[in-house]
Amino acid sequence: MDEVIISRAITESYIKDLLEAMELDVAIVGAGPAGITAAYYLAKERVKTAIFEKKLSIGGGIWGGGMMFNKIVVQPEGKEILDEFGVASFEYQKGYWVASAVELAATLCSQAVKAGAKIFNLVGVEDVVIREADRVSGLVLNWSPVSLANLHVDPLAIRSTLVIDATGHGSEVCRLVTEKLGGKLRTPTGGIVGEKSMWAEIGETMVPENTKEVYPGLIVAGMAAIAVFGSPRMGPIFGGMLLSGKKAAKLAMELLKKQS
Ligand SMILES: Cc1cc2nc3c(=O)[nH]c(=O)nc-3n(C[C@H](O)[C@H](O)[C@H](O)COP(=O)(O)OP(=O)(O)OC[C@H]3O[C@@H](n4cnc5c(N)ncnc54)[C@H](O)[C@@H]3O)c2cc1C
Repeated sequence: MDEVIISRAITESYIKDLLEAMELDVAIVGAGPAGITAAYYLAKERVKTAIFEKKLSIGGGIWGGGMMFNKIVVQPEGKEILDEFGVASFEYQKGYWVASAVELAATLCSQAVKAGAKIFNLVGVEDVVIREADRVSGLVLNWSPVSLANLHVDPLAIRSTLVIDATGHGSEVCRLVTEKLGGKLRTPTGGIVGEKSMWAEIGETMVPENTKEVYPGLIVAGMAAIAVFGSPRMGPIFGGMLLSGKKAAKLAMELLKKQS
């Protein structure tokens, strides 16, 4: 084995993927359950999709289950998605299905990549690209270690017809739109309303419900949708995240169709 051939294989194949990702149909920010599920359903329908994830590992908040007990609970609608992905689960009590957090994280990632989604880990989104009619039209990217080390390094940009904010509690892309652009979101206040205290039943219902185009070119999904629209958190029940990812993909495909 030759060290330089190994190094060329890695750099050339990565650069090829990155160049392809510079013009996307849908760019997803955050590889938590909502973002990966959205990527899977989009890639399955041949929509050109990539996820940008600032952490080394993908899966977001899945791995820790509830308070580091690495099990998750889903409702019957969520169980249908677990079945589609081939994630094992058992019914703990009528309507409460339990699955392994580790199996869910690993399987979601594997299925999304196999469906054709590209995942760029260690890449943080630090800004959006904006175009006419104040439309989000792309992302500004940088390596996560650049911001961790506080290095003075300029970012690069990619273009995308649509962006999905799946950044969890931080709702980071929506925050950029409101704080940096002074943009008005399609929320009751025009801003990020902020997540409310726990109420599992309502929180779970609201995750897919709040999954919407919240600003031209920008869809919000998962826990970010809860934070942006000011709904209650729901605790370690992840069915809503999966359903939200699926809905974000469906919505993105409808919006792409309208644009073409
Ligand atoms: C404080 C706290 C409270 C929680 N409370 C709840 C709760 O009440 N209910 C519940 O179900 N779950 C809760 N969780 C667990 C978890 O957040 C969610 O259940 C679930 O993981 C959310 O899924 P998601 O896909 O929306 O986002 P997440 O799983 O949070 O994934 C978001 C991903 O986006 C990435 N990301 C963020 N910003 C950027 C950026 N700028 N560029 C690139 N990547 C980025 C993150 O690194 C992360 O991997 C909580 C987690 C924390 C930390």
